[in-house]
Amino acid sequence: MKSKRKGLIAFGRPLIENDEIKEVVKTLKSGWITTGPKVAEFENLFKEYVGSKYALAVNSCTSGLHLALLVAGIRPGDEVITSPMTFAATANQIIHAGAVPVFADIDRNSMNIDPKEIEKKITGRTKAILPVHFAGRACDMDAILRIAKKYNFIILNDAAHAIETKYKGKNIGCYGNITVYSFHATKNITTGEGGMVTTNNKEYAKKIKMYGFHGINKDSTKRYSFNKYNHYSVSYPGYKYNMMDIQASLGIRQLKKIERYSRIRKYIWDKYNDAFKDLPCSTPKEAEPLTRHAYHLYNLLIDVDSLKTSRDRILNELINENIGAGVHYLALHLHEFYAKTFGYKRGDFPNAEYISDRTISLPLSPGLTNKNVNDIIRKVKKVLNSHKR
Ligand SMILES: *Cc1c(COP(=O)(O)O)cnc(C)c1O
Repeated sequence: MKSKRKGLIAFGRPLIENDEIKEVVKTLKSGWITTGPKVAEFENLFKEYVGSKYALAVNSCTSGLHLALLVAGIRPGDEVITSPMTFAATANQIIHAGAVPVFADIDRNSMNIDPKEIEKKITGRTKAILPVHFAGRACDMDAILRIAKKYNFIILNDAAHAIETKYKGKNIGCYGNITVYSFHATKNITTGEGGMVTTNNKEYAKKIKMYGFHGINKDSTKRYSFNKYNHYSVSYPGYKYNMMDIQASLGIRQLKKIERYSRIRKYIWDKYNDAFKDLPCSTPKEAEPLTRHAYHLYNLLIDVDSLKTSRDRILNELINENIGAGVHYLALHLHEFYAKTFGYKRGDFPNAEYISDRTISLPLSPGLTNKNVNDIIRKVKKVLNSHKR
């Protein structure tokens, strides 16, 4: 994203190169700009990348999560267990499906939902578990799958951070029932806005496509054939969640570069880890064995106790130093809506609150120059050292 403030090193600046620009222009000139052949091509490449049977492109991960919940049969009154350490979209979509988001606390080291906490939150109304693979780190899928099997729950993955994430050799989308990815501008690859839903279930795939385009049973490329008019029939009051070819042509080029981007992210990640190891903060933990981390967010935990200061003070000082730092996330149960509606309060999820009070995300995108990275390191050191007593 373009920095609003002069000199600010933006938090998530995507790398858009000439080949992407050319591809998008080609689509613009092709006469077909909305859902069509480029979306189909992107879906095929993505399902190959994940190793799933189906991939359905949507206009955001948010709308993909909504569709996933609906086609999985989540109904009003049902409960879906998820993490409080996530973006609002995760829980909001559970509400839009008519269900109740039930938070289960995270593990402090992985910042992912703790399977032991999931078990404590199960009631007669629980229907699904929605693990968020936070920062690109795989959740403990063996434990989550065990719980799902025991109680016959659906698993819907929020893989917004986790395009490259692997668990025991396979992409995270190979586990559970439906997985949803994001291509928002700050995510590991981008289509501006956009998302992808993957599944191995043919019925789910058919419904996701249909519900995501007005509940119409035919795809638009077939609808507008040249020799005769094809009437369409609406079989469900669907939504307008389709991705455009303009977006898909960007995504196709981005997906080809995902390994290069991943190496750059890891390089910056290691450099940060090395530079910050003696500061009053803790750096992200190593990925668990047999997993691949997508290195989506670099979360530094500020040692607010020894520094006797607040995270927000450090955050604002970094912003004043032109570092586009962010917070991922203020724990969801502390937000006004969730606290008021479900009666959540501080103290309910101590581990999520621990992270929520200390975390600062530093820019970690392939769009950063070496100079940017060195500036960030220098300024983080300067700000944190100035608080040491
Ligand atoms: C970004 C994000 C989303 C939403 O993705 P969009 O594509 O912007 O709708 C959902 N969940 C998490 C964890 C995210 O970070």
